[in-house]
Parts: sequence; structure tokens; C-alpha cells
Amino acid sequence: MNILLVGSGGREHALAWKIRKSPLVRRLVIAPGNPGMERLGELRPVAVTDTDALVALAREIAADLVVVGPEAALEPGLADQLARVGIPCFGPTRRAAQLETSKAFTKGLCDRHGIPTAAYSAHTELASAKAALQAMSPPYVIKADGLAAGKGVAISPDLRDAEAEVERMLGGRFGQAGARVVIEEFMEGEEASLFALCDGTRALLLGGAQDHKRAFDGDMGPNTGGMGAYSPAPVFTPEFVEAAETEIVQPAVRAMAEEGMPFRGVLFAGLMATDQGPKLVEFNARFGDPECQVLMLRLESDLVPYLLAAAKGDLSGLPEPRFTSRTAVCVVMAAKGYPDSPLAGSTIRGADQDFGPDVQVFHAGTGRKPDGTLCATGGRVLNVSALGEDVADARAKAYAAIRKIDWPGGFYRSDIGWRALERDEA
Ligand code: ATP
Repeated sequence: MNILLVGSGGREHALAWKIRKSPLVRRLVIAPGNPGMERLGELRPVAVTDTDALVALAREIAADLVVVGPEAALEPGLADQLARVGIPCFGPTRRAAQLETSKAFTKGLCDRHGIPTAAYSAHTELASAKAALQAMSPPYVIKADGLAAGKGVAISPDLRDAEAEVERMLGGRFGQAGARVVIEEFMEGEEASLFALCDGTRALLLGGAQDHKRAFDGDMGPNTGGMGAYSPAPVFTPEFVEAAETEIVQPAVRAMAEEGMPFRGVLFAGLMATDQGPKLVEFNARFGDPECQVLMLRLESDLVPYLLAAAKGDLSGLPEPRFTSRTAVCVVMAAKGYPDSPLAGSTIRGADQDFGPDVQVFHAGTGRKPDGTLCATGGRVLNVSALGEDVADARAKAYAAIRKIDWPGGFYRSDIGWRALERDEA
């Protein structure tokens, strides 16, 4: 079969690597892709937001399936357009993607269907938002309703600060995304993510992962898209996963179908392990990046039949996907200056060598200079990912590979997996 994969990050490199292993795949075209994917498929320079051009490309290659990596392609309605021309799409329609693109939508859905999450209120007026804050106790959690590149959430112990933040959001700091704000109760606990493949009515669990959002060691510094991840997530006991599946994931998929917007694709549930069990922090409508990288390393089953069945709306004939019980760790190498002002253009050497069977280096923000040398073109640049017997073993392999990469313009955290390691040692 022919597959069009949309995206250019480490998440999509990992998906391409896994899709390429499938004996079912004849042709893999990637739009726009990155240099790490050159050997896995044909790269086409089409932007992920150019939905007309992506549909045209899917038709041109007679795609049997389109796999969408980033949410930026979902919000403008790529899945809807593909449905109109009869091409199966792994990724939700615009309405179903509201699970990610509107926090107020998701909160309302949770309310209507009894899905455990933090208590909340939504506001478009400053006066009502301030009144809601004044009626709550700190810390205050304030969120812009729409997509704000991971920067639309503020948590503050101080009422004056919180009020000022609401004022900035409603005043246009995030444009339309902040025209409505959500104010939430603060949830105490450890956070992890659970992933499920969905076909519109059913969900098949893909397991969990934990990531590191802060830029520097010790979970210090500014928030980022994610500096590393590991899977499985030790905070997920079998009881916790079962509760999350029956109380959060399955009800959400059922609720979306009942409300006339069946969700097809991967549902990413950001969960808080609270004293009262799992509670939903957020849903995303696509794989996490870098969580996808560690899940793909651990997945033993062929991914393609699952993507196709979910896209076509019937996962019922497939068994639970198989995962190795080994641990995968991904360490993100970022360009110096990331996340505020990453330095572009620095030369990278040694990223494409053979690091052995347990290590994969997925590319994200990489490009080629005119002479073919690899260089940095974005914030997060390389995702050094390794499988091991446990967290300590997997991360030792990842860091050994990093030491062989010659990139003076990059940096990385040296403590990925510290929480899991502390648990293992306890
Ligand atoms: P992301 O970059 O994770 O997609 P986002 O902008 O979609 O972020 P959320 O995931 O809703 O926003 O919130 C970001 C982070 O803020 C969460 O990962 C969590 O650590 C924290 N957070 C959000 N809501 C709460 C809450 N109610 N209680 C405690 N912490 C929270």
C-alpha cells in the first residue's frame, strides 16, 4: 500500500521508521519530512498546514492511508478534506480535534459524561473571571482556551498575579486562542501520559510514557515542547491504567461518538495520579513528541494494520498491540538558546552512524548545508532514543550515543528519567 505521512519532527521520524518496517508498505511519501527520513521514504516539500496541497499529494500518489503527525494539520481540517475524497486518514476531523484545540470544549465534555478532571469555569469577561478566582484558593490555574504552543497555561500562588494573567489573556496575549479563559482547581500528583488508538467507537491502549517539560536538569528553567521521555511510566500501576481506561479513555471515546464527532486517531490523555485516582489534565489529538519515539521503540507489532483499521473505523478485528517489557528512553538534543532563541545553522557530525541495534537517533529540526553536511535548523534537533533492560540501562545507552555525536552548538539534559530511576532504586 501507499502511505502519506504528514510532519517533520522526531515524532514523525519515529513513525516513518516504524511504518517502513511493515511488509504491507510499498511506497512511503513524507511531507515535508526531515533529513533523517531521507532513507525511509520520498520527501516532498509541502507545509503541514497546506491542506489543499496535502490532499492533492495524497491523490497523486494514490494513497491508501494518510497518517497525520502534528495538530497543526488537524486544526485546519485535513482529515475532513480527505474524508470528502474518500482517503482514509489516521487523525481526527476538525470537530473531533476539539479535544485538543479547545480546553473549554473538553471540560464541558467531561462534565456532561462524568469524566474525572479538575473543577473549572470558562470566561470571556474579565469581571466574571476575577470573581471566579476570588472564590478559589491558591494555587490558581489559568488557561487560554485554544492552542497556544504549550505556553497558554499559567499556575500562580498569588491572586494578584493570577488576575493580571487573566487580564493579559483576555486582552489578546494569545490572540483568539485566549478570547476565552478556563480557570481550574489545582490538582496535586505525579503526571504521566496514556495513549490509545481510536476508531471512532473503540480505544486500544498503547501504554504510557512520562516526559520532561523543563529545559534544564532538575526540572529547572523554562517550559519546552519536551526534553526527553521514557516508557513504560512506572507511576502507571496496572490498577491505575485500568481506572484511567474505564473512567477516562473509553468514556471520552464513547462520548465523542454519542455527540456526533467520532474520534479516529491517537488519543493522548495527560493524566494526574491524584489521591483519588487518575484525573484528566488534558487531551491531545495526536501522539506526543517525544513520547511517540519511546512508544515506537517498544512496539513489537506491525503498526500499519492498526493505523489503517483506526482510520477506516474498525479496530475490532485486531489483537492488543504487543510491546516489549524493556524500557525505552529518549533524550532530546536541542540547539543552544532553545526554547527562547535557538541558534540555527550549527554543524552536526556523527548523528547518522550506526549506534547498534538498541539505539535510534530520530531527527527533528535538522537540515542540510549545500555540501550535504547536517546542521541545526530548529529548537529541538535530535532525539537520541535507546532500549534497555531498565531505565538505568536504556539511559546509559542513550547518553553513550550522545557522547559520540559531535555538535558543539547543542545541549541536552543529563537527568532524563530521574523520577523513574529513584523509584527503581527505592
Ligand atoms: P502542553 O504543552 O502540555 O500541551 P497545554 O498548553 O495544552 O500544554 P495543559 O496540558 O492543560 O496545557 O497544562 C500544562 C501543564 O500545566 C500540565 O502539563 C500540568 O503540569 C499543569 N497543569 C495543568 N492543569 C493543571 C491543574 N488543574 N492542576 C495542576 N497542574 C496543572
